[in-house]
Amino acid sequence: MSKEKKEILKFGKILCEQGLNHSHSGNLSILKNKEIFIKKHGVMTGYMTEKDIVSINLKDSKKDKLASVEAKVHRAIYLNNPGIKAVAHAHALYATILSFKNNSIKPVDSEGQLYLGEIPVLSCAQTVCSDEVAEKIPKLISKHKAVVVKGHGIFAAGQTLEEACMYISVIENASKIIYLLNK
Ligand SMILES: [Zn+2]
Repeated sequence: MSKEKKEILKFGKILCEQGLNHSHSGNLSILKNKEIFIKKHGVMTGYMTEKDIVSINLKDSKKDKLASVEAKVHRAIYLNNPGIKAVAHAHALYATILSFKNNSIKPVDSEGQLYLGEIPVLSCAQTVCSDEVAEKIPKLISKHKAVVVKGHGIFAAGQTLEEACMYISVIENASKIIYLLNK
């Protein structure tokens, strides 16, 4: 199995074990040259095997049929941010709760402030499989490394999948602290 596929399996499992995704939610991808390795549509994120990862083109959607419905968002992030090599998406509970009533999430804990600072909340009419999210997210990612889509979840990007997943974990922890402090 390729290194990229092994990484996607590993971090898909970690995101579920940490409660950042549930059942089939979320997706992960890695860019290698002109090819994006990404989770297949409709499979369980924490229990994927090699056949649950597909490869699609960076430049077009010709091979997207079996890929995650968020493939267009992953592709848009890569095409507009040349330094980015991995993208992770998670339906993290507390970050999603905060997204309903905030235009951004401002961590008050030291880790959240150190790694990310203010995290933008992107509000779109359609939040899943959304052309609007694909259009607006790349610019926000270039500045903030991660974005919370209102009522949906977190998209994070990095040089590696570990980095992207770390941002998801840091945002969720920061969100949980904010939520509990204001309870
Ligand atoms: Zn989602």
